[in-house]
Amino acid sequence: MIAQRDSVTHATPIGQLFHTKDRVRVFESDTLLREVLEYFSTCAADVVIIARQAINIGILTLKDIVKALQNFGNLLLPVENFMVSPLQTFSFTQSIAEVLDIMRDVAYDKIVVMHEEKVIGVMDHRHLLSQCYTQLAPLIKHEYNLIQSMLGLVGEGEQGLLKLATTDPLTGIGNRRLFEEIFQAHQSLGERYGVSLFLLMFDIDDFKKINDTFGHNVGDSVLKQLVALVSRSIRKSDVFVRWGGEEFAILLSYSDSLKVMEIAEQIRKRIDMHRFETIIHVTCSFGVTQVHPNEGSEKSISRADSALYKAKADGKNSVRLEIL
Ligand code: GH3
Ligand code: MG
Ligand code: MG
Repeated sequence: MIAQRDSVTHATPIGQLFHTKDRVRVFESDTLLREVLEYFSTCAADVVIIARQAINIGILTLKDIVKALQNFGNLLLPVENFMVSPLQTFSFTQSIAEVLDIMRDVAYDKIVVMHEEKVIGVMDHRHLLSQCYTQLAPLIKHEYNLIQSMLGLVGEGEQGLLKLATTDPLTGIGNRRLFEEIFQAHQSLGERYGVSLFLLMFDIDDFKKINDTFGHNVGDSVLKQLVALVSRSIRKSDVFVRWGGEEFAILLSYSDSLKVMEIAEQIRKRIDMHRFETIIHVTCSFGVTQVHPNEGSEKSISRADSALYKAKADGKNSVRLEIL
């Protein structure tokens, strides 16, 4: 149903996300619920529009019907008894950013897109947001390059210098400087898309012992293996940096802190289960926090750090959350 994912940006007209052949069926308001249920059972659609005298007045989903049946709704009643109304619609020319702005203020979950009085598609809020998540990485890169060129930092040959200054030489991922430079861009993009930004910090447990027992080279190798393992566990759009020593930070955009805690827990488990060369077993402690709009990076870092400290104090190899 989604057309040309790669060319989507926040300015893309919402209509571009739909194929015309996926037009949504319209049923008259006096249609019996049973007929719509029969329609759903014959195709992949799970949503229809309800109209009265050619005017769209509501929306009915398969979920609405299931709910109606659970409440002993009668299949021989007209659909208008079960639809969600009024119908919030968007013109196919409105930009994705505009639609997200409006969605943030209203409680409707479904986005109904119109073209010349006809519904050309329906998408739920989450689906639309996920479209934006996948686009966040190139957007951030684009905006970052823009900022850099505005500052006159990216001249002939200077791109290489910039990369050198923002990369950790041992592990190849970004360093603290990269984090500081792109933190704000992420924060403002997150706000524009109505997406929450989270910060996850983690630190290897008893790393000093690893160095003392097996030597500095083995310690270095553990750092490299760990970075490779974690990089495979996160998305390309997440920003993963070496904060310093054996401490790392990840900036990620998600809908809520539960999801981020789940991801942190997955990474923790993955490290715990992994067989590292020579020393075999390594664990890490994690601190998670939400980045609030407009706050400086040092505030969110200090919260994530304090959550991480709690994880250490509670016996290490665990994840803690600190929201406020
Ligand atoms: P905790 O569980 O409380 O975090 O204990 P820890 O031993 O991990 O923490 P501590 O801060 O006492 O020690 C961190 C060690 O990490 C000390 C330092 O020498 C070592 N380290 C920092 N950077 C590097 C590096 O690039 N390579 C190696 N091999 N060791 C490093
Ligand atoms: Mg440590
Ligand atoms: Mg440390």
